[in-house]
Amino acid sequence: MTDRLYYRDSFLYEFEGEICDITETPRPALTLDRTAFYPTSGGQIHDTGWITSGTTKHRVTEVADTEGGGVVHYLEAPVKELAPGSRIRGEVDVVRRRDHMQQHSGQHILSAAFVRLFNMPTVSFHMADDYCSIDLDTLSLTKEQIESAERLANEVILENRPVDIRFVTREEAGKLGLRKIPPTERDELRLIDITDFDLTACGGTHVRQTGQIGCILLRKAEKVRQGYRVEFIAGQRAVATARRDFTTLTETAALFSTHIYDLPQQTQKSLEEVKALRKQREHSLDELAAAQAATMLSATPSENGRKLVLHIFSDRDMSFLKLFAQKLTRLEMGTVALLGTTSPQPALVFAQSSGQNNDLGACMKETLAKFGGRGGGSRDMAQGGLPEASHVESALAFAKASFLG
Ligand SMILES: [Zn+2]
Repeated sequence: MTDRLYYRDSFLYEFEGEICDITETPRPALTLDRTAFYPTSGGQIHDTGWITSGTTKHRVTEVADTEGGGVVHYLEAPVKELAPGSRIRGEVDVVRRRDHMQQHSGQHILSAAFVRLFNMPTVSFHMADDYCSIDLDTLSLTKEQIESAERLANEVILENRPVDIRFVTREEAGKLGLRKIPPTERDELRLIDITDFDLTACGGTHVRQTGQIGCILLRKAEKVRQGYRVEFIAGQRAVATARRDFTTLTETAALFSTHIYDLPQQTQKSLEEVKALRKQREHSLDELAAAQAATMLSATPSENGRKLVLHIFSDRDMSFLKLFAQKLTRLEMGTVALLGTTSPQPALVFAQSSGQNNDLGACMKETLAKFGGRGGGSRDMAQGGLPEASHVESALAFAKASFLG
């Protein structure tokens, strides 16, 4: 069993101890007799830092609980000079620890706020490197409820209430009206007491005064299987996130030449314009295809009741090719169209008016097989993409020669 120094003092960043055990598989790892390093547990992620022996400093990259009640410290590089019994000095990464305390204490206050205001218990807590979340046991959660809980939590932070660590027996804990009692066999429980606001059993590291949390900012809320998941961030994370949000909004507002608070209306307006323009464009392309098809057909002589239109575009996409083929084959019966485009994507479309004997699907398959493209279709309409624009012309010539004589 490792003596967990952080249980009694979350602000202890340096300590001395002794190595109990060293393992090297798969990563070098130390177990100590005592530690101030927090192992990942109870929703809070682990500390990092350094372990020094003599003059050699080892980076601690991860800390975890062992099954036997120990705490294992994973190191970045193998350790040669260390052995069980060696004295070491441990140093917790203070910036990371402070951040974790702000998030975790912030979570206790936020969870208590949701219980006090709306009787919504927290069923789980998750802390990641960039954001945190709690899952609330509730069927519904409104924007107003989120804002009220955020306001109350920040008031409790501003009141700078003391946060105490207390140890009680399970029996004593039962009479204290805790927000949460963990399902453990242990008889001694560690309580985090936020004066006159929240009392809960927890093994995590916490601030001494609520003011040290700084502030709490609620973000996304989404429905999950067991209720609602609310993302939040506290302290410096909240400031950093607000800064990033503001930068993003400012850059976007500059694109629209507008104020950040007018962005929703501006964006809505632009989307509507795009939609209207897209419709107009579709309409114009349809008219263009019909006019070009009529011109091309009148310039094409008929042979044995059949008109063969072979054309390569340099600036039309596949959907225009299909539209154009449709116009050609519907304007005059007996039309066969072999169309290609070189840009933006090299492509082919073969089509014919209904009632003819050619199998253009098979023709497309063979053509693509020869030129390395992909696609297919029916007897009357087939399409495919080619890897090289320079192959479009030869592909059309091949299709004409092998299928249409
Ligand atoms: Zn906790």
